[in-house]
Amino acid sequence: MIPQTQPLVPKQAWQIALSNAINDPETLLSQLGLKDKLEAIDGEILKQFPLRVPQTYANKMRYGDVNDPLLRQVFPLSDEGKIDTDFVSDPVGDKLAITSPGLLQKYHGRALLLTTGACAIHCRYCFRRHFPYGDSNPLASQWQQTMTTLKQDTSIKEIILSGGDPLSLSDTKLEGLITELGTISHIKRLRIHSRLPVVLPGRVTQSLLETLMNSRFQIVMVIHANHANELVDDVIPALKALTDINVQLLNQSVLLKDINDTVVDLINLSERLSELNVMPYYLHLLDPVQGAGHFDVAESIGISLIQQVRKQLSGYLVPRLVREQQGQASKTIIC
Ligand SMILES: *Cc1c(COP(=O)(O)O)cnc(C)c1O
Ligand code: SF4
Repeated sequence: MIPQTQPLVPKQAWQIALSNAINDPETLLSQLGLKDKLEAIDGEILKQFPLRVPQTYANKMRYGDVNDPLLRQVFPLSDEGKIDTDFVSDPVGDKLAITSPGLLQKYHGRALLLTTGACAIHCRYCFRRHFPYGDSNPLASQWQQTMTTLKQDTSIKEIILSGGDPLSLSDTKLEGLITELGTISHIKRLRIHSRLPVVLPGRVTQSLLETLMNSRFQIVMVIHANHANELVDDVIPALKALTDINVQLLNQSVLLKDINDTVVDLINLSERLSELNVMPYYLHLLDPVQGAGHFDVAESIGISLIQQVRKQLSGYLVPRLVREQQGQASKTIIC
């Protein structure tokens, strides 16, 4: 007999695109005509958190520009090797907030579920780069324990699917997860924190849309774009498909040195979000994670940027500048 090698469910186009994501700094540089123009870090740091960027996202980078704001978010610069003692591996105290496998409960009324450690893209500034996902993936094991915790805690009105990136799960897994959560009557809202509609818009499949439409939950999706150049081409119909089925779209960004730390960049980002029916939600100050010091923008500069943006934009298009501090009842609103 010929052994069966085909998986039972064929891969969707976005999953194939994901397995073909660029993972070699040299490949990315040569695509952009930047061979030898940027120095990549090597060794352990790159092994632990490799370059990962879907081709659709790389296509939005400007040819021949070492300072391209999309390239800078994903390129593993040699600067990552700098040791900065104020920058640590768990800057936001997530490990302390785990109440059940894969469940983070920091704030009243909502619980954050770490659905997977996988992401479609590796953002070099990300505080999750050192997180021990293997130990806390609730879908892999002990899911019943987490479900029991959720059922017993009637203060939880909202579940946040996070990760990693929850939309890197298959449609079948997501549907199963959302259906199970739907059996807990005190949970009213489902929030999905995902960068996939921006970095791999093909992820917004018909079957995903159907799962969201068929769910009884009010659905909020918090996407993550840091620069207006990310919100072009194939991203536009993907976001429209979501708003067409009444998913409320919000955006969170991170304030990043040399990427979006000017008034013009922040205004362009908000304007573009508005055109696509996405409300700016948070602008995060960088979490002090080891290896990301070169992205840091001082809080005083962040405040001054937001004050200038506020003079030029409708109030609802100005994101809240926030920082995450351990042991607080909410994110800290700076401005
Ligand atoms: C950021 C975060 C939330 C969501 O906070 P909101 O202010 O409601 O957006 C929830 N749980 C955890 C653990 C978080 O880090
Ligand atoms: S969790 Fe979000 S910010 Fe971090 S690497 Fe994944 S997609 Fe990027």
